[in-house]
Amino acid sequence: MRVAIIGAGIAGLATAYFLAKEGIKVEVFEQKFLLHGASGRNSGGITAQFDDEELIKLAIRNEKLYDKLQSEIGFNFLLRKDGYLKLANSIEELGRIELQRKFGLKVKIMEAEEVRNIFEDINTEAFKFASFYPKGAIVFPWAVIWGLAKGCKDLGVKIYDFTKVEIVAEDGKVKGVKSGEFHEADVVVNAAGAWSKEINDKLGIKEEKRIIREEICVTESIKPYIDPYILHASEGLFLSQSMRGEIVGGIVGKSDGGMTSSLDFLIRYAKLVTRLVPKLKGLAVLRQWAGIYDETLDGKPKMCFSEIKGLYQLNGFGRKGMSIGLACAEIASKEILKFTQEE
Ligand SMILES: Cc1cc2nc3c(=O)[nH]c(=O)nc-3n(C[C@H](O)[C@H](O)[C@H](O)COP(=O)(O)OP(=O)(O)OC[C@H]3O[C@@H](n4cnc5c(N)ncnc54)[C@H](O)[C@@H]3O)c2cc1C
Repeated sequence: MRVAIIGAGIAGLATAYFLAKEGIKVEVFEQKFLLHGASGRNSGGITAQFDDEELIKLAIRNEKLYDKLQSEIGFNFLLRKDGYLKLANSIEELGRIELQRKFGLKVKIMEAEEVRNIFEDINTEAFKFASFYPKGAIVFPWAVIWGLAKGCKDLGVKIYDFTKVEIVAEDGKVKGVKSGEFHEADVVVNAAGAWSKEINDKLGIKEEKRIIREEICVTESIKPYIDPYILHASEGLFLSQSMRGEIVGGIVGKSDGGMTSSLDFLIRYAKLVTRLVPKLKGLAVLRQWAGIYDETLDGKPKMCFSEIKGLYQLNGFGRKGMSIGLACAEIASKEILKFTQEE
């Protein structure tokens, strides 16, 4: 049994890793370089503060997988468990706290002033309420991808970079993938993130999805003093401080527009972030970039076999791929394994 995986983001590489551990022969195809997709461009915020039972369960499973994989692969993902702080202008915008607590999340609700116990320099006039999830974390996304790629290679998975592939299917069944050359496979996994729709379109598979572009930037380093990941849910502003001291932040994406950066974003972000943390005024931005991700209409990931036999869909993570992607990949690998055993 052979499995071909399209996309070397968190979803594709983690699935490859889990399958290879079970002795399956896996090949991963990446159209550009590792880190080209959203998995190499995100802000690394990890939380389980979701408003849906399935997503919360996936996120809890995901938290454990980060710990497990780091030690199993022998690679440091530079994951820091300093909590996830969600701010909002109204209690409603904090989401379904009772549901989160029902699943054991120790989420603390606070009024603005209390947040100063977590981060002293926050401007308490820029928001009204907060929910703090102490088990939330920040991970360095590049390290996750490098680590998963190492884990794959150690298990004999071949990763082809700069290899854009399309799916070959005949008589309602996948045969493999092709770029210049044909690679035979019994199962093909569409883990192509924002590009997964394009791949499905070519096969005549209809799906409704949003492709979202999100911009982000990084400043020069200052002494590390912001512990948690901060998301202002009402304004879409997010920020955190890397272990090197840079402020990494941006504005949650709303619509498509490719992977180009804009001056408009920098101006909007600078205004929002310096209102929330006035001490950041004057810091130089060293680099800015953008990434794209795909989001399903119900906000839940797609993880299922589709109408073409042997084609598995693993995409549609929205702005949650780092928080649930490993868990989804583990589930996908189990379903694929079952399929290969039944064939
Ligand atoms: C700015 C930004 C901030 C974010 N912040 C967070 C956050 O704080 N927390 C969080 O949980 N999530 C966050 N996300 C979302 C998260 O990054 C994504 O949900 C996740 O990375 C999606 O992973 P993936 O593996 O599905 O897709 P990707 O990482 O995009 O991987 C898909 C890969 O497929 C490749 N590909 C596409 N087509 C082909 C083809 N035909 N042949 C071969 N290869 C192909 C692409 O090049 C790409 O590398 C953020 C995203 C962005 C852009």
